[in-house]
Amino acid sequence: MLQELNSIENVSHNLLIHAIKADITTLNVDAIVNAANSSLLGGAGVDGAIHRAAGPELLRECRALGGCPTGEAKITKGYRLPTTFVIHTVGPVWHGGNYGEAALLASCYCNSLKLAIEHHCCTIAFPSISTGVYGYPIEQATTIAISTIRDELKNKSSIKEVLFCCFSDHDLEVYRKALCSS
Ligand code: ADP
Repeated sequence: MLQELNSIENVSHNLLIHAIKADITTLNVDAIVNAANSSLLGGAGVDGAIHRAAGPELLRECRALGGCPTGEAKITKGYRLPTTFVIHTVGPVWHGGNYGEAALLASCYCNSLKLAIEHHCCTIAFPSISTGVYGYPIEQATTIAISTIRDELKNKSSIKEVLFCCFSDHDLEVYRKALCSS
């Protein structure tokens, strides 16, 4: 309970940022973020789970988007998912940290939030972008995720709640520690 409370922070204007362990496809929020690849045609990990749960209509809409460069984001409907929107962003592949990975990862969070705000979303859930198949070290990625979101949301916007949706106990622990100590 104490841990749960500690993981929730209030930045300045009734904004909640917290970490939970869940399958992102089950979350009833305005938007979930997909850690997609640049084709936007589905893949492994969270991308595959989102496409499976949303159904073939999602792939149809994604086909019309013509892909997405690394660091950018595109929005679709959620179809059979409980969420209204899916925001597809393409995280960087980790190549050791000297190839602009940090800036590209920050820009995934920034551009996803911009789209969510443009679509008047109040609640948004992020997976841990790039830290699966793309190999970004979880501690470093978490620091970037939290600091970018805080910075982007320091002024009032439609967003009232940000969920970091972790898929393992270890990732959840990393996020909770980072939220408490930063
Ligand atoms: P990337 O290619 O950007 O690394 P992955 O999908 O391989 O994307 O992994 C990103 C994160 O998403 C990892 O922490 C992985 O454990 C997590 N993940 C996988 N499936 C789900 C899911 N259904 N819900 C939430 N997170 C998930």
